[in-house]
Amino acid sequence: MELKNKRVLVVGLGKSGIAAALFLRKQGARVTVSDTRSAVALAKEIPGLLDAGVMVESGGHGLLTFRRQDLIVISPGVPLDTPEVAQAIGYGVPVIGELELASRFLKGRIVAITGSNGKTTTTTLIGKIFADAGQPALVGGNIGTPVIDLAPSSTEESLDVLEVSSFQLETIEAFHPWIALVLNITPDHLDRHGSFENYAAMKTRITENQQASDYLILNAEDKPTQMVAAKTKAQIYWFSPRRPIKQGAFVHGESVLFLAKEGGKPEPVMPVAEIPLRGAHNVENVLAAVCAARLAGIPAETIRASVASFKAVEHRLEFVRCLQGVDYFNDSKATNVDAAIKAIEAFPAGIHLILGGKDKNSDYSVLSPLLRERVKAVYTIGSAAEKIERELSGVVKMVGAGTIDVAVREANRAAVPGDVVLLAPACSSFDQFENYEHRGRTFRQVVNALGQ
Ligand code: ADP
Repeated sequence: MELKNKRVLVVGLGKSGIAAALFLRKQGARVTVSDTRSAVALAKEIPGLLDAGVMVESGGHGLLTFRRQDLIVISPGVPLDTPEVAQAIGYGVPVIGELELASRFLKGRIVAITGSNGKTTTTTLIGKIFADAGQPALVGGNIGTPVIDLAPSSTEESLDVLEVSSFQLETIEAFHPWIALVLNITPDHLDRHGSFENYAAMKTRITENQQASDYLILNAEDKPTQMVAAKTKAQIYWFSPRRPIKQGAFVHGESVLFLAKEGGKPEPVMPVAEIPLRGAHNVENVLAAVCAARLAGIPAETIRASVASFKAVEHRLEFVRCLQGVDYFNDSKATNVDAAIKAIEAFPAGIHLILGGKDKNSDYSVLSPLLRERVKAVYTIGSAAEKIERELSGVVKMVGAGTIDVAVREANRAAVPGDVVLLAPACSSFDQFENYEHRGRTFRQVVNALGQ
């Protein structure tokens, strides 16, 4: 891709937008960035960009800025139907995302992980297995390091392990993973994608450029992923925690097995008991990672040792503390209803559950059976509290806590030894926090301050 002297606009100054702008400058492009946030709000970002020779438009988007470009690189947080973007598309300006841009500069083989939940856990685990096996693995994407920042280190030998979101997939063209994983497709981001069908269609795009020599790893127990299977040219490997499958990874008895070829003999990988993560959903993540690692040629015994020494990623069912016989868990990353369900399912009973935050047009009533079965009380926080209380009214004891601070203290007062206090809010965090990490850290601080 020739970028020298090309006019390129980067829309959105998040982490990946800034990385893209600086990368494009290094390639000799004439780069402008545009963000609706004010210059004051962007005071930290702007100086470095100006120093690098990037022009900055803040406090809104100018129509002309968008039309006068050879290429627009759009950040995952910016919807394609933003009026200025839509107009530029109408004028024939190519619009791609940072993932697409980056993938044109990656030299290694791409292992890409998507799904509604479990991406970060599975991406981190796959990266660890590759690293433990001595493979030159790079890890990035939605997970922290922007994909574009991997480009300089990517070589023909490297395995480029990428966590990709539905937003990133919305703006791909030639993005072509060697191994693609779709962990699950459950309702999320419906506020942005409009309908479940649109959202599922975005996830399906992960395989649209795959060929017969590529691999697609899918969840055999997740209905919507059948749709992905119908749309691929790649070889499909399935994973299932429940039953033997024709080709892929599954649990049988007490063991994780991998079956390389239909009709072949399953190979034992590891005992389920050696998986150090809590919750049935994490067994699924391990199975998906086992598939990817075996397809990449990593021996089963290396995978076993690597999985056994894996630690839960921060804010994903992270154990915080045991106080007077009550365990406190931080699952701040449970930003949708399905993730909250998985978190609740990881504990048999006696749960004090903190729910709420910013609603994403979710249906909380589906939580009812599980709440009746396992939850002693729900403590609501944030702007979704009223909706949650309405949809779950009469199901279980509700405490309108408002903030995490009050929720933790109320739960601490009510809990008895053997109970669990669980932050699995089923909502995003942006009404009260900068992001889910901030919410999780706040929870940890409040929990650690208890009893002092
Ligand atoms: P993502 O990157 O897709 O958001 P994470 O690994 O960060 O995935 O986990 C997000 C949330 O979903 C956490 O609350 C976690 O406990 C839960 N989770 C993890 N894996 C799965 C899975 N396979 N199915 C459902 N929920 C999961």
